[in-house]
Amino acid sequence: MAEIITIGEVLVEVMAKSIGQNFHETGEFIGPFPSGAPAIFIDQAAKCGSKAMIISAVGEDGFGRINIERLTKDGVDISSIKISKDRATGVAFVTYKEDGDRDFLFHIGNAACGEIDEDFLKEEDFKDCRYFHIMGSAIYNEGTSRAILKGMELALKYGAKITFDPNVRKEIIDNDEKRKLLVHILEKAHIVLAGESELFYLTEIEEEAVSAKGLLENNAEAVIVKRGSRGTTLYTPQNTVNIEAYPVEEVDPTGAGDCFAGTFVGCINQGITVEKAVKLASIAGAKAVTKKGPMEGNTDLQELSRIFEEIYQ
Ligand code: ATP
Repeated sequence: MAEIITIGEVLVEVMAKSIGQNFHETGEFIGPFPSGAPAIFIDQAAKCGSKAMIISAVGEDGFGRINIERLTKDGVDISSIKISKDRATGVAFVTYKEDGDRDFLFHIGNAACGEIDEDFLKEEDFKDCRYFHIMGSAIYNEGTSRAILKGMELALKYGAKITFDPNVRKEIIDNDEKRKLLVHILEKAHIVLAGESELFYLTEIEEEAVSAKGLLENNAEAVIVKRGSRGTTLYTPQNTVNIEAYPVEEVDPTGAGDCFAGTFVGCINQGITVEKAVKLASIAGAKAVTKKGPMEGNTDLQELSRIFEEIYQ
């Protein structure tokens, strides 16, 4: 039975070949790559040696198959991924801007993963659950919103902790209802893993340390802020620790945060301390950006530990 459970989109990603390409002009794209933020997360949690499950849906097609094969190879429990007879696997296209920003074009709401709703969750799956991980990107329709709320309820019933990566995509969080749901999850989360601008977006408190402190005084045990190549900050009730990024040459930034979260949750689930788990997750996030494709740079715990020893011993 799974100890780490997540829910949401499993899809393929197709990425622009060159920086500066856009969606309204014909250009070359590369893919398909297995993807979907929850899928990247759970793949990495399993690669770190935890029993991990994803609740999702794919189509009966090659895009579904590439994902199922990858997740199976890496040890993810795929028994709660439905193979839809009616809908195709989701797709995300991504382009990169000169300033490092990205645009996404998602086909998910009407794809197989758009079928997810609260009926996808089986109570027995949650009996051994220790961490229920929520990705903000999974709030793409009413069905997934209800499913996430039910997952939270089941997780809390069985004593699991809620880990939360707001993963705000402007293309998905397109109305205030969705933002309000993100705020609700933030308030219930035991561990928050946010991008730099996301705490401000959700709490409307300008100073990051103040909003982190507010969350720690409320319900959170740890708040982690990810800043790409500028590293990571870990806030706990006891202290604040800045962790430098592991220096690498960035090839493709997509998926780093999901890989970071998968490593972190995968490691604390196995009894690794929060601070060491953040350091291992930082190495994993760095390794993730060295490969083209959102899941291609996922790295197992043995290799992450080897690099950790090199840096910290
Ligand atoms: P995404 O939403 O694309 O998955 P994110 O914004 O949630 O990404 P990032 O801050 O980009 O997350 O990356 C997560 C972590 O991975 C960072 O905190 C850092 O430790 C590591 N990382 C990311 N990019 C780099 C980089 N270029 N060099 C070194 N480390 C990096």
